[in-house]
Amino acid sequence: MTKDYYQTLGVDKNATKEEIKRAYKRLAKKHHPDLNKKEGSTETFKEINEAFSVLGDEKKKQHYDQFGTADAQGFDQGFDFSGFGGGGFEDIFSQFFGGGGRGGRQRATGSDLLYQLEITLEEASTGIQKTIQIVKNDTCESCEGEGGKGIQTCSTCKGAGRVTQTKRSPFGIFQTTTTCPHCKGEGKDIQHPCSDCNGIGVSRQKKELEVDLPAGVDNGNRLRISGEGEAGSRNAGKGDLFVEIRIKQHPYFKRDETELILETPISFIQAAIGTTIEVPTIDGKAKLKIPPGTQTGTTFSMKNKGMPSLRGYGKGNQHVIVNIVVPKKLNKKQEESLKEFGKLIGEKVTPQKGFFDKLKESLT
Ligand SMILES: [Zn+2]
Ligand SMILES: [Zn+2]
Repeated sequence: MTKDYYQTLGVDKNATKEEIKRAYKRLAKKHHPDLNKKEGSTETFKEINEAFSVLGDEKKKQHYDQFGTADAQGFDQGFDFSGFGGGGFEDIFSQFFGGGGRGGRQRATGSDLLYQLEITLEEASTGIQKTIQIVKNDTCESCEGEGGKGIQTCSTCKGAGRVTQTKRSPFGIFQTTTTCPHCKGEGKDIQHPCSDCNGIGVSRQKKELEVDLPAGVDNGNRLRISGEGEAGSRNAGKGDLFVEIRIKQHPYFKRDETELILETPISFIQAAIGTTIEVPTIDGKAKLKIPPGTQTGTTFSMKNKGMPSLRGYGKGNQHVIVNIVVPKKLNKKQEESLKEFGKLIGEKVTPQKGFFDKLKESLT
């Protein structure tokens, strides 16, 4: 219900804060039930107080100017959905991103939800459709979110959703505006509240959703699914669902955006004489040529074997770091042939001076 509070106070829409205050003081004095015994003065006095409770409050006035109603302003009796059995949240992180969470009146838009979805690197590479199951406050099916039957304007607050109490004191007139205790700020009264949702219009429900993940998604990416968050009480609007991606650690690959990094061992013989090895890639095995004389720590890049770009700019590369493995144990025969090999390449095989001795030598 729209009320013209400016008209009630007899001020212009562009009236200053001071002008509004002055008009209120003048009218409040004029219509105060203790001073004015005319019939209807109590009603008028209430109207004046209601008008001033909005126009005299910067925030409420701004909202009223914008929407033509003072509703949905910060009344102290918020309705907190988090009270619904937290145990049912499973892997939902119980998030309130604002919107519904900010202690407004009951008719707050439903909260946004955050769901963490863990997928493998392979799934991130190809993109995948996943079915997720969430437990959330959703529109009650029995009453279609209405909260019940026989909905009427609240008789206590006449639909305003709040009540104003006025007290006189030697210092002036004090008034307090509180959420209507009868309708809890709703402004409406339900004759036959729905028994499934206790008149709230939402109930705890399990929902399954299909989520399409594009190829190239990465840790921390969030998908917004509009309207799949929680339902607000009595069809007050739904929040959004955010699906946040978590990528499981891969046994071989490290990921840096579209680049994949793999470490692989090769023997010192393979490194010395060169070979072709088989390495895993994100979409199967591939061959990698190791040239003769490869040193440990050398990185080879395999073009277009990385992760796809989320924006569709092709694929990154795979980088293979080779680690040369030295045999830990040699039998007599192996040792002899290695010494022989050492002689062939002119290497001293007797124990050498330590690293620091050599370093000192090179410096002098
Ligand atoms: Zn219901
Ligand atoms: Zn009421």
